[in-house]
Amino acid sequence: MHITRRRPDTRQGPADTFTGAVWLDEIAAPAAPSRLRMFNVHFAPGAHTAWHTHPHGQVLHVLEGEGLVGRADGEVEEIRAGDTVWIEPGERHWHGAGPRTFMTHLAVVEAAEDGTTASWHAHVSDYPA
Ligand code: MN
Repeated sequence: MHITRRRPDTRQGPADTFTGAVWLDEIAAPAAPSRLRMFNVHFAPGAHTAWHTHPHGQVLHVLEGEGLVGRADGEVEEIRAGDTVWIEPGERHWHGAGPRTFMTHLAVVEAAEDGTTASWHAHVSDYPA
């Protein structure tokens, strides 16, 4: 058994792929052959991702607060602490905090062979206010 105590290295989500204040902590990125990538993501109220896809899908597990997940078919789901969401491989979606609450989720993906974990598209044009 190994305990990993990572140096704090919290990074702000860049403006070309996130709207509002989003902070990401990489929790785990084990060496090959593993392609696991695990992040803790903190969203300020109303902050959210742009539209994007993940090559092998994504698990989101909400730790704190309330938020929203939108999918390409127009469905918008409310998520809250304790919820776990599965995003299909290649499924266009976004996720973020509710308009008046912080939201923190774990995000777990498998990287593609070239290391890619997400493909980014346009910003969300009609995020719920
Ligand atoms: Mn995602």
